[in-house]
Amino acid sequence: MSKLRFRVVETAFKKKAIEVPTPEERPSEYFAKYVFNRSKMFKYLPSKVFDKLIDTIDNGSTLDRSIAGDVAAGMKKWAMEMGATHYTHWFHPLTEGTAEKHDAFIEHDGKGGVLEDFSGKLLVQQEPDASSFPNGGIRNTFEARGYTAWDPSSPAFIVDDTLCIPTIFISYTGESLDYKAPLLKALRAVDKAAVDVCRYFNSDVKKVFSYLGWEQEYFLVDEGLYAARPDLLLTGRTLMGHDSAKNQQLEDHYFGAIPTRVASFMKDLEIEAMKLGIPVKTRHNEVAPNQFELAPIFEECNLAVDHNMLIMALMRKISRRHGFRVLLHEKPFKGINGSGKHNNWSLGTDTGLLLMAPGKTQEDNLRFITFIVNTLMAVYKHNGLLKASISSATNAHRLGANEAPPAIISSFLGKQLSQVLGYIENSKKDELVGFAGKQGMKLDIPQIPELMIDNTDRNRTSPFAFTGNRFEFRAVGSEANCASAMIALNTAVAEQLILFKKDVDALIAKGEPKVAAILEVIRKCINICKPIHFDGNGYSEEWKAEAAKRGLDCETSVPLIFDNYLKPETIAMFETAGIMNKKELEARNEVKWETYTKKIQIEARVLGDLAMNHIVPVATQYQTDLINNVYKMKDLYPDDKWKKLSGKNMELIEEIADHTTYIQENVDAMVEARKIANKIECEREKAIVYHDKIAPMLEEIRYHIDKLELIVDNQMWTLPKYRELLFIR
Ligand code: ADP
Ligand code: MG
Repeated sequence: MSKLRFRVVETAFKKKAIEVPTPEERPSEYFAKYVFNRSKMFKYLPSKVFDKLIDTIDNGSTLDRSIAGDVAAGMKKWAMEMGATHYTHWFHPLTEGTAEKHDAFIEHDGKGGVLEDFSGKLLVQQEPDASSFPNGGIRNTFEARGYTAWDPSSPAFIVDDTLCIPTIFISYTGESLDYKAPLLKALRAVDKAAVDVCRYFNSDVKKVFSYLGWEQEYFLVDEGLYAARPDLLLTGRTLMGHDSAKNQQLEDHYFGAIPTRVASFMKDLEIEAMKLGIPVKTRHNEVAPNQFELAPIFEECNLAVDHNMLIMALMRKISRRHGFRVLLHEKPFKGINGSGKHNNWSLGTDTGLLLMAPGKTQEDNLRFITFIVNTLMAVYKHNGLLKASISSATNAHRLGANEAPPAIISSFLGKQLSQVLGYIENSKKDELVGFAGKQGMKLDIPQIPELMIDNTDRNRTSPFAFTGNRFEFRAVGSEANCASAMIALNTAVAEQLILFKKDVDALIAKGEPKVAAILEVIRKCINICKPIHFDGNGYSEEWKAEAAKRGLDCETSVPLIFDNYLKPETIAMFETAGIMNKKELEARNEVKWETYTKKIQIEARVLGDLAMNHIVPVATQYQTDLINNVYKMKDLYPDDKWKKLSGKNMELIEEIADHTTYIQENVDAMVEARKIANKIECEREKAIVYHDKIAPMLEEIRYHIDKLELIVDNQMWTLPKYRELLFIR
């Protein structure tokens, strides 16, 4: 099998007539039209097979391979009725985006012809030659096999003519090579740990779901202008460009009227998303010009992650129909707000309870406090890891900049919840027993049963904010696969819930009443995880100093932030929970460092090319015009007058010379620095050099280019400027 047969998902989409629903066609009519969801399973599968499959999906019971043939046959029948001719195993390698290899539904019929076929074997497992995907050294080329294996918990769907089957991707020796495999394990771990804790409060609970509601921010740029910016095209961001005279100072974009062409893009996108079963709900303008947001109703985490990957592909495809390109990069424009993908996260039970939401009874609220405090503990203990889980070369431009969560993980709780936690922490043990007792609470918190956590109490500077019935992990980048953050968070919470239960059970074993034991452990936890709680301004300089004092991870270098994955406590956490072993974590870090280096390497090359081929020649040409002008003026005027009239141009000539010389010298220096860096064998060391030496050179060269942009004749400047990229729709 050749490597070329893999394509990123967006190239699989072909332009075809848009099916616009008639007014009679409500979203409820076409929602999930292209998804092999339960109703289709019911229709296309024998009832016994349906029951077994649903049991696997709902209860995580091991898939009975004997049903695979029937499921494949049912899926094929449905897909072919929908016009599909091909199928693919759809997976999330450790790159951005998804991968797929399309095969037609055909086999030889033994009589010289072909017949449409799709066997259970092909549904369940495939062996792609996956050596072109990053694996961090887990697979040697002689052992280049990887398996993709069907994930029945995320339904198959059709894109154009292809049935896409969500799969995990693992190596021949069983290590995960993707995001989905560890995510499924992490979700399983948090499910089990949370069910065990839930049982203190409610014996009916059999399953706990991890929920994710992502908010996707993005920019739209006119297609023609985009094509004229090689930096946007090749790196996803502008490597140069002076501030526009107007940008977001007036703050007139946020929640403003959506421009017509954008609205028509959004509508089209939403219809296509709905057909793929993505429950998109919210759309609005964002803070920066040409920046927008899209959010669905939250879903079970694995499905939500798949849906986010799909929507990013859809956005790329549909933006083109409307003459736009979508920018998913975290920081396409310097000095303008970047894009995030807030991950709204919570846990909920199969009995319909949201565990992060306060309830009506004391017991409900004790359960609420239990889950809040355990989450805070997990975030506190693994704050460095959580930061690593959202770090990348691209998100680094956003984190710590003024509009984004800072590069320090802390949690905002709001006034009410902070008060409640403060209360519990400062209460004496006896009082807590009182809380537990039938006589009511001595804690002066009889209002707790009425607790309505105020959803409007927001802090936009917090990277991990409590928002009423969930936490909003705001540090996640717009381009990221949410799975990375969700693996770290769910595993950390699972680990903490297990420890919590162990401590509570130990107290109960000593004769402590259950509620008193729970409160006692909560009280200790509140005290321990205090440093993670911060309701103040996360953008302030004082917070940086304060966070360092509190012992929170304040590292800002992305290659060093990745070290968090290999700290003993991280390895222990992932290994104990059976999610990833040390070898896998090391391999993944190799991939992370390598990707980091490559991104900066590409940017450096593109900037070098643009500087030498666009900027310096144009600046020199303009400078020559100025020189000619100065000489001609000398012929026209007596010396005194000439000097006076040509003084400014003489200054400009020199300024241009200063900038172009700096650019030429430093592009050369950057090439030399890269040559030295590229010789470093260790991926970590190489990434560190790229971070410390080469990334700053990009910024310095840019500074001089941006100065030239202000000087050089606008007619000559070959690249569209910020004012055009950001304001032309
Ligand atoms: P914001 O005001 O933060 O911009 P949005 O309405 O844009 O909020 O998005 C909020 C997201 O959070 C939506 O995807 C929503 O479905 C999701 N959400 C709401 N409640 C929960 C919950 N309990 N768990 C997870 N996600 C949730
Ligand atoms: Mg929002």
